[in-house]
Parts: sequence; C-alpha cells; structure tokens
Amino acid sequence: MQTTDRYTLADLERWSEVTSDVDPPIRLGIFGDPVAHSLSPQMQNAALRAFEINMQYTRFHIRPNELRAALGFVRELDFVGINLTVPHKIAGLTQIDMADESASRCGAVNTVRLHDEKLFGSNSDAEGFSRAVRSEFSIDLRDLRVMILGAGGGTGHAIAWQCALENCERLVLVNRTLAKTSALLDRLRPFFTEPRVLGPVARLEAVPWDEAALRAQLADIDLIVNATPLGMNPSDPAPIPARLLAPHHIVFDCDYGPSKTALLRAAEEAGARGANGLSMLLHQGALSFSIWFNREPPIEAMRSAIAL
Ligand code: NAP
Repeated sequence: MQTTDRYTLADLERWSEVTSDVDPPIRLGIFGDPVAHSLSPQMQNAALRAFEINMQYTRFHIRPNELRAALGFVRELDFVGINLTVPHKIAGLTQIDMADESASRCGAVNTVRLHDEKLFGSNSDAEGFSRAVRSEFSIDLRDLRVMILGAGGGTGHAIAWQCALENCERLVLVNRTLAKTSALLDRLRPFFTEPRVLGPVARLEAVPWDEAALRAQLADIDLIVNATPLGMNPSDPAPIPARLLAPHHIVFDCDYGPSKTALLRAAEEAGARGANGLSMLLHQGALSFSIWFNREPPIEAMRSAIAL
C-alpha cells in the first residue's frame, strides 16, 4: 500500500498502527518544516527500487520543537536513517549521538544513520554542492570567488566549509542576521591567510545584507550561491535583485521547484549563467545513500527520477 503524502510526530508516536498496511515498510525519510516540496522521496525510492531493497523513504513534517522527540522515535523504531532539511540541520548536530568530521566541522547534519540504536550524523550537502557546481558549470571551487547568501544557516555553513577546504579564491559570507556568521568566520580564517587574488579585497569577509554592501562586493565575485529558503515558493522574491547581477556572474540557487526561481530569472535578465538546486539534490542524496547502505549509489536511476 502507498504511504500518505507526509507523516508527523503524532504518526511516529503510533507508528506500528499507522503503518500496519504500508508495504514496503518505511525505514528512511526526511524531516523538515516545510517538507512538502522535497523531491528526496522520489529520488531515494528510485534508488531503493533499482537495488531491490525492500523498504521506502517518505516525508515527515517535523517542527523545530519536535525534532528531539522525532529523532528519539528513529532511535527506537527500525529506521535505517533520516535526512534533515530546513530548519533542522544545525539543531540536529546537538541531538544525535555522534557526528563524523563532515558534520562536526561545519556544525550541521543532513544525514543521520542508525547503528546499534545510536544516531550517527554526517553532512553530504558540502560535497554534494561541490559536485553540483562542477557538473553544472564545469569549474572547480578553487578557481572561484564565492558569495554565500544565507551563510548563517545549515546549508550555508556546509558550503562555506567546502569552499574553504577546496581553497577557493575568495569567500564572502552574507546573512540576514550577520552575528550568525561570526563564529564561522573565525574558524574559516586560517584557510584564507595566503594571498591569492590581486587588488585590495580581503579573501574572507562577512558583510551585512544590504544593497550597498552587496554591490561593493559583487564586482569581485564569480559565483553567487543562494542558501536561503527564498525560492522554495514560486511567489518568493529573489534574494538579490537583477540590477546587482552582471554577465560575468554564475548563480547557483540551492532551491528548486517546478518553475524557475526569481533569482534564476534575475540571473537570466542580467545575462548571467544559473542553475537550480536539483543537481545538488542528486549529489547530496547519492552520498546519503552510500552512507546508509555502504555501496555505490545507482546515480542514473536517481537522476532520472528527478528528471535532471
Ligand atoms: P536553515 O538552516 O534554516 O538556514 C536558513 C538560512 O536562510 C539562514 O541563513 C537564514 O538567515 C536565511 N533566511 C531565511 N529566510 C530568509 C529571508 N526571508 N531572507 C533572507 N534570509 C533568510 O536552512 P537550510 O537547511 O540551510 O536550508 C536553506 C535552503 O537550502 C532551503 O530552502 C533548502 O531546501 C535548500 N537546500 C537545498 C539542497 C539541495 O539539495 N538542493 C540542499 C540543502 C539545502 P537568518 O540566520 O537571518 O535566519
């Protein structure tokens, strides 16, 4: 029998009753708020079918104050693992039993694996983002001057760390609440001590989210990354207006949906190249699959499931 569109904490409380006629059994899923937009179920279920693994992956609408209890149920029930999405990635780190280096270094978890009733956290967003940029634009982060909008969030942290580890030319952190970037800025500083770019610009900076500050930075930026949820809903405005974009920019929007996001429309208007978050979804999801099953993921089945 088919699953419902999304489950809740109340369903986890009565899990065996609620899922008594669900076949194959649900042993994987994604926790988010909102979560209805997520294409992870169709992608991960395609991977499970490709390997004839008799289980399924579904959505859970879990609110921030429900995360601890929901993870408690994952620990008790027969789950293989869980993905965490907006807004749970940073809070998730404090609610698991152990974190690997990928998660602890960037302070955010998007993949949880259950082993011996313990929750192990990893982060596949960082590496997934890097693979997505390479596949979309045929360029490596090390050759780019990068601006991250939403650097204070879980995804923004993961992307910032990946940029640092790959020794990108320059990194500018932007966040609505600027204070949420200060600890990250301090920890990234040692990666940016060598001079690499010509001119008077700093290799690593955090700037407030205002038009003058962004305009001043964007002349020395190649890749603009949207790591905010602005773009999840078709009615969302672009996080930055088209008038700030130029043809030399490349724009990566972590968000995706059935229609082009306002940011990608703005990029097009400015003559800049752009890509949505589907390729990141694919690569982070493929890495999560290999964390859960310790085998190479069926990437082509996953790719066709999201029509990429
Ligand atoms: P998160 O931890 O909740 O962080 C959200 C970030 O966005 C914060 O920096 C927040 O700033 C900022 N923000 C929220 N609303 C804003 C607004 N109206 N204006 C300006 N900034 C705003 O969320 P997350 O888990 O990092 O996810 C962020 C987005 O990336 C989500 O839409 C998610 O779906 C997407 N994502 C996609 C993929 C993929 O595979 N394609 C992977 C990961 C994430 P403050 O600190 O000021 O609140």
